[in-house]
Amino acid sequence: MSGISLSSYRRVTVKIGSALLVDRATGLKREWLSALADDIARLMAAGTEVLVVSSGAIALGRTVLGLGKRILRLEESQAAAAVGQIALAGAWSSELGRHGLVSGQVLVTLGDTEERRRYLNARATISTLLKMRAVPVINENDTVATSEIRYGDNDRLAARVATMMGGDLLVLLSDVDGLYTAPPERDPGAKFIPVVEAITPEIMAMGGGAASELSRGGMRTKLDAGRIATVAGTAMIIASGKELAPLSAIERGGRATLFKPSPTPVRAYKTWIAGQLEPAGRIGIDDGALRALLQGKSLLPAGVKRVEGVFSRGDTVAIVDPVGREVGRGLIAYDAADAVKIAGVKTGDIAGVLGYEARAAMVHRDDLVLSRPAEEWESCKVEGTDVTSA
Ligand code: GLU
Repeated sequence: MSGISLSSYRRVTVKIGSALLVDRATGLKREWLSALADDIARLMAAGTEVLVVSSGAIALGRTVLGLGKRILRLEESQAAAAVGQIALAGAWSSELGRHGLVSGQVLVTLGDTEERRRYLNARATISTLLKMRAVPVINENDTVATSEIRYGDNDRLAARVATMMGGDLLVLLSDVDGLYTAPPERDPGAKFIPVVEAITPEIMAMGGGAASELSRGGMRTKLDAGRIATVAGTAMIIASGKELAPLSAIERGGRATLFKPSPTPVRAYKTWIAGQLEPAGRIGIDDGALRALLQGKSLLPAGVKRVEGVFSRGDTVAIVDPVGREVGRGLIAYDAADAVKIAGVKTGDIAGVLGYEARAAMVHRDDLVLSRPAEEWESCKVEGTDVTSA
């Protein structure tokens, strides 16, 4: 396969997995980092902006502190991250510095991409760094992140950052060299897939089981990252970083899977809604409402069957069809308590039920993003429910 020209992209986010940067026994893999810095400097010289999402804080801190392989308690991994992050940032700064490049450390927590105000703030900081030709070196702020309030994997974090910054390419470097029809370690007959046109349910199935604590950083989270990226118009590459200078390897035609961006990306505001990692609630709808949403209409209370979760007006909710498939995500116009009261209520009766004059839509069409284009629902028909018939 001929290589992929990374310098033809304008703004590239490169995510580096912990195992590439840190050796359990010897600590930071300096030579590897140095060669990657050469790659990054070359791209920058060609006019491409580069953002780095670097994992490895916890792994490095664990080595420095001599904590071995044992499972760490939350406060131990937070402490390990504190020790590891300072060394990691120093190493990035000196390796990029060899090329005359300035780097800036950015540590984010889940709220920095999930809450609108903080999202705009984080975006402003990173965009200022880019304007100053500095390389943002980003990681999750693991010293304060708890298991409930964290991304947990840098694949999705990198996708959120790449789309937040309007990047056109995300490169995930890890010990996985691309997507296969099945997990290759379990199925020797698994075939490599060089290009993915769209992340369909069939492609998602190739990633193995649902996301869980154990699959963190595995193919499933990489495909989740791919969904976040491609919907927003950002291409994604999964490639192995095991060799030195992996970005050059991709350009020379080394093994990699390219996920093409959606030809009809949603605009920034909707991208932000669609990429929300943890919807605050779930709204179950009936077939009539599903048809309305597929035609681009708003979700009215009359078509709502179920309301789950604790949310406030303006929070993101997932909208699910009668068989439990996620249809889309949107910002809800009501607090949970009121949403429950008006579920199934016709528009004309809402004011009577609530005692005040309220919005007609539960989720307005402007605040709503479908998970997949309406045409694709045809291929997801389930027995007895033709969701696209009029
Ligand atoms: N943020 C974690 C760290 O720097 C890594 C998360 C991941 O491996 O995806 O140690």
